[in-house]
Amino acid sequence: ATALADRMIAAARRPVVIDGQSFAPGVSIGIALAPSDAASADELLRCGDLALYEAKRLGRGRHARFHGALEASARYRRLIETDLRDAIARRELALHYQPIVRAEDGETVGYEALLRWHHPVRGLIPPLDFVPVAEETGMIDAIGAFVLNEACREASRWGSGRRVAVNLSPAQFRNPALAAEVAAALDASGLPADRLELEITESVLLDASSNNLTTLGRLRRLGARIALDDFGTGYSSLSYLCTFRFDKIKIDRAFIRGICDSREALAVVRAITGLGRSLGIVVTAEGIETQEQAACLRQEGCTQFQGYLYGKPVPASALAEVSAQPRAGTGS
Ligand code: C2E
Ligand code: MG
Ligand code: MG
Repeated sequence: ATALADRMIAAARRPVVIDGQSFAPGVSIGIALAPSDAASADELLRCGDLALYEAKRLGRGRHARFHGALEASARYRRLIETDLRDAIARRELALHYQPIVRAEDGETVGYEALLRWHHPVRGLIPPLDFVPVAEETGMIDAIGAFVLNEACREASRWGSGRRVAVNLSPAQFRNPALAAEVAAALDASGLPADRLELEITESVLLDASSNNLTTLGRLRRLGARIALDDFGTGYSSLSYLCTFRFDKIKIDRAFIRGICDSREALAVVRAITGLGRSLGIVVTAEGIETQEQAACLRQEGCTQFQGYLYGKPVPASALAEVSAQPRAGTGS
């Protein structure tokens, strides 16, 4: 079955020319076998679906074979999905804030808002365990709106005028009202737009045919700053830095971890900081845990630092922020 799948994938991959334009079709295949995987036709199809889903998750254009662990993770996802539907209403979602500091003098310039789910039975669930489920089910729109409103409201109370960074999922860009929702969150909170930084990942730019660039342009025109998160992982095409004028690049933690003893990691960091300098873009290093890493990164010319060395994500109540006086004339 796997040999056949390989041949089918190779056969489908040949480029097709339509109206002078070349298209590269792709096929993902899920494999389930009877009777070892399933006893009935329905069951077999379901197992095949789970395997197909896994093939797509692993990067598409490939095949994956059904195995028992897929069943367990599908069950876990279903549980998460059911509970997540009620999480907002039950006020189980909250934001934690992690400081971003200036490399020069360690002064805090802003905070990144990071989502936390306090599940009544399972305890604290990290975002990587439930954000993907929210993306697949469309719940990300409601959750994203909560995050935007909450982060803007919180930051508007900081007397320091520091910025707040909010992560936007690529799935939120499918929502044509995204820019309007950001505008509404700014409006409702009274937070000046230039104190809001929106972090996106490269996958937002991946689909050139989509309207994502238009949406990004709208967000920029609102006055928000746009940061490219997790840079260096995934596709990391330097051309993305030319498609849109980002205000900031965040170098992924994976490279920071190795910077002191891996030539490769250092080379990537050096290339990104060099680009940042030439393009006049702020470069933030994520996930700094040791003084040695900070020293290396300072030498490479990173302009901002973020990581456990400077502070872990904490609830808003634990931030050393002086509350601003309620603004006059807002009627609230
Ligand atoms: P991210 O945006 O790259 O956030 C940085 C992650 O690195 C956070 O994990 C943070 O806690 C962690 N981190 C920061 N400094 C260190 C360090 O020194 N060492 C280590 N080991 N880790 C560090 P977290 O909070 O688990 O978030 C994971 C990812 O989930 C985020 O990656 C972001 O992509 C996503 N996420 C978080 N909040 C939201 C949200 O509100 N909306 C969306 N769409 N995604 C979110
Ligand atoms: Mg981020
Ligand atoms: Mg990141």
